[in-house]
Amino acid sequence: MAKILIVDDQDINIKILKRVLQGDFETMTANDGQEAIQVLKEEGRNISAVLLDIVMPIMNGYEVLQEMQKDDILSKIPVIVTTTTSGNESELKALSYGAADFVTKPYNAGIIKQRLKNLIRLQEVTTMVGLMEKDYLTGIYNRDAFYQLTAKTLEENPDTEYDMVSANIEKFKLVNDTYGTKAGDRLLCYLADIFVEKMHQRGGICGRMTGDQFLMLIPRTEKYVEEVLMSAAEKMEDYPLRMKINLKFGIYKIEQRSIGVSHMSDRAILAGDQIKGIYHKYYAYYDEKLRQQLLLEQRITDEMETALAQEQFQVYLQPKYELADDKLAGAEALVRWIHPEMGFLSPADFIPVFEKNGFITKLDMYVWDKTCAIIEDWLKRYHKFVPVSVNVSRKDIYNADLPNVLQEMVKRHGLEPRHLHLEITESAYTENAKQLIEIVSQLERLGFAIEMDDFGSGYSSLNMLSELPIDILKLDMRFIQKERKHSRSILAFIVSIAKWMDYKVVAEGVETEAQIQLLRNMDCDFVQGYYYSKPVEHVKFTELLAGASLAKDLIDKVNRQEKNKIIEVPGDHSKVALIVDDSELNRAVLGECFMDQYNIVEADNGAVAYAYLKENYEKVAVILLDLIMPEMDGFEFMEKKNQENYLREIPVVVTSQAGENSESRSLHLGAADFIAKPYNVDVAKRRVYNVIESCKMQALENVRANDLDMESDTDKESDNK
Ligand code: C2E
Ligand code: CA
Ligand code: CA
Repeated sequence: MAKILIVDDQDINIKILKRVLQGDFETMTANDGQEAIQVLKEEGRNISAVLLDIVMPIMNGYEVLQEMQKDDILSKIPVIVTTTTSGNESELKALSYGAADFVTKPYNAGIIKQRLKNLIRLQEVTTMVGLMEKDYLTGIYNRDAFYQLTAKTLEENPDTEYDMVSANIEKFKLVNDTYGTKAGDRLLCYLADIFVEKMHQRGGICGRMTGDQFLMLIPRTEKYVEEVLMSAAEKMEDYPLRMKINLKFGIYKIEQRSIGVSHMSDRAILAGDQIKGIYHKYYAYYDEKLRQQLLLEQRITDEMETALAQEQFQVYLQPKYELADDKLAGAEALVRWIHPEMGFLSPADFIPVFEKNGFITKLDMYVWDKTCAIIEDWLKRYHKFVPVSVNVSRKDIYNADLPNVLQEMVKRHGLEPRHLHLEITESAYTENAKQLIEIVSQLERLGFAIEMDDFGSGYSSLNMLSELPIDILKLDMRFIQKERKHSRSILAFIVSIAKWMDYKVVAEGVETEAQIQLLRNMDCDFVQGYYYSKPVEHVKFTELLAGASLAKDLIDKVNRQEKNKIIEVPGDHSKVALIVDDSELNRAVLGECFMDQYNIVEADNGAVAYAYLKENYEKVAVILLDLIMPEMDGFEFMEKKNQENYLREIPVVVTSQAGENSESRSLHLGAADFIAKPYNVDVAKRRVYNVIESCKMQALENVRANDLDMESDTDKESDNK
């Protein structure tokens, strides 16, 4: 049971709140701010939320909030402020001091409990997302976090010499196969703990890439090979398994910092790979002995230009479908190399080489151009198309001229930017956030839809959302599968955030019916994967397209904007939720929340909303009202509505920015509750639900009271007789 700390100087209030929470929560109490802070410092980790009074002796509520903000752990505990009078500014002030919500007297038990539950859950999910920077198994940094931290460390310490060291467990697969994956997991955690301790001692960083591949950034000292690497290897030899556990290290001495962290890691890993299976060799340096690897790379590099000229590269297309009705909605262009001697090469073999040697920009340009030609052909022959997304490599982003290049290219084929989608991989953000934001913003302005590839696989996901203009998030099921324990909730959470921020979601790597079902339940928009189709030759895809009925255009959906209009979103419920907001985005977000219970009617200002309401008041169950709008704002709307008896009973929930005087003023004008932006779907739903339920209760009460009145009237009448 979650534990709630109640802070109030009035015993009576504490009593009431304790009674309200009884059965659903455990409670602790404090009589003033100072006591509260003391309890929090001792019990902080065990307390799920705080109900906090503002006016108290010794230390008041604001001071408690301020004190809590200073502490890492305490600042994460949600606080609901309890106030005596509704509509005063102290609540808003409390929110600005970090309170999550407030409740006013007289306390509504249902609302308090509900708000507490919502906040606690929200907090849990947020913590979980925080975990995404940590490796789910060992708790050390995952790849992207390691990269980012390493880059930062190198930048901040230009005069310290570092080595990049890879570590690998020899025949780890055998451990898994022989003793089971649980034993394998335990081994990985054990090793991670050793590394953490050693890095802690000397100011290094460690992270886990995948499987048993670890990386460390170690300040170079004479003895670290002995003291860190060999000592870790010795500890592993004592690990209680029948099998002897050997570690292999690869060392790259960082000389050239400009090559980027991922290349440093590659080199360390490459070095470690050299001594795989070589008995009593524990570490190896990256050096020119890596010929083997380099030779193949060399061959690829030598032949790439010829291959391009001879059209050995081909564009394959993998269809994307709209999940709701299984209709074709798009495709992704994926390159293949049909090599005359080596045969069919997969991008995994050559793309990394091209990314290293820079040829990728040329190849990508070629692929984009071919893709445009394919779409041009569709339009000419069939007057139809689906948007095709092309991959934009990290390297392409470095080209400041990219927006021009792409714009010219689509023009040359008689196309518009909306015909192409651009897939940008999340790791580009880790490497060069500033440039990426700059270029992507330009591309977006030109009208290209931006898809964030491999979303959720990395460290930067959530930061990125707020900084990049993205239209579509692409989640890879194969990645998500690996996350095991929290995978479903993380997936669900990502999808709900995406929806909330009005992104479309594509799930890729979809292979099973079960995954489809899962995605359907989450309301994911599009799917791509072997379950539907592998990437196919473009001619084959064209046949598919020619015969297919298409999903509505992706982009048109995003861009629809009508002014001064009522928009009735089709639905088959009996009642209407009227959403009044001048921002289309906000209307869409709110619409999504209530679509499952009401028919949605949108209005973009108070005047049109009022006109609609007068005609349709019997249908309207609730009004969600923004305050600041052109033509007629929310306050004026409420005033007008209050003048009409038959409109007065329809509840209004104000959905506006918190922080101004607006909350108190709206409550004054009869608003039933207030949902502040940015909206939390659950809180919004919950509050509206509560409002409507309490209205129903009120109506019942009124009817009963009327009946009673009538009864007593008739009583009187009969008495009089
Ligand atoms: P990506 O962009 O994440 O592309 C998706 C990859 O997943 C493709 O692999 C696709 O064939 C594969 N895939 C799709 N559905 C499934 C499924 O249900 N199960 C499984 N196991 N795999 C599925 P592919 O074609 O081998 O491409 C690998 C990566 O190479 C791509 O990953 C992308 O990063 C890169 N790439 C491919 N073509 C290009 C290109 O033209 N330019 C650039 N810059 N990169 C490309
Ligand atoms: Ca892609
Ligand atoms: Ca992908």
